[in-house]
Amino acid sequence: MGTKNIAVDGPAGAGKSTIAKAAAQRLGLIYVDTGALYRSIGLFALKNNVGSRDAKGVPALLPRINIEMKYDSNGTQRMFLNSEDVTDAIRTPEASLYASGVSAMAPVRDFLLSTQRDMASKYDVIMDGRDIGTVVLPDADLKVFLTADATVRAERRYRELREKDTDTTFEEVLREIIARDKADSEREVSPLKMADDAVLLDTTALDLDGSISALCDLIMERFSL
Ligand code: C5P
Repeated sequence: MGTKNIAVDGPAGAGKSTIAKAAAQRLGLIYVDTGALYRSIGLFALKNNVGSRDAKGVPALLPRINIEMKYDSNGTQRMFLNSEDVTDAIRTPEASLYASGVSAMAPVRDFLLSTQRDMASKYDVIMDGRDIGTVVLPDADLKVFLTADATVRAERRYRELREKDTDTTFEEVLREIIARDKADSEREVSPLKMADDAVLLDTTALDLDGSISALCDLIMERFSL
């Protein structure tokens, strides 16, 4: 029997990472945050003064990029960009915008495809992203499309950033979420869209615990756990 593969896709700030990570912990699965891969490439472009939408410059950087995903003892994914731990550096609003920019380029998506598929073939994973159910793992055992209203998503992300003392306003976060939603769903390559065979999970009216339980229920039902 192959590995268990669960795809969780949805827009920015829907709580995918928090919810999928908690569900993975509860059920003994490995949580794979694929946004961190795009963020790492975005950060590399930013550090090298290459524009996030520079369709020649960004692909030209790829041969110089080595990305590794590692897991600490708590099961937390840590990202290494050319051996440097960039786990925190990739979380700034600027890195988010860069991630969104570089992720629209086909060479960038191709570059990251094998890393994602390797993880899924080796481990039982909950993989979180935008195109996991549609492109990366079209044969996933379970596909979940996790979403919530944009304002609710912005409120959640704002609270999260405030806890980390990041200097940003709610309006800025909301603007960034709306801009990324638009860019992610309108891009030509792998746009954010719900797979035909995905289950919709809307967390607008759910608290965190309720959302985690809802995802766990779907997984347990699928695998008769
Ligand atoms: O999920 P997260 O917000 O960290 O993702 C950062 C950016 O990376 C997203 O705005 C999206 O443009 C891109 N992304 C993607 N495909 C994925 C995961 C993330 O295009 N599978």
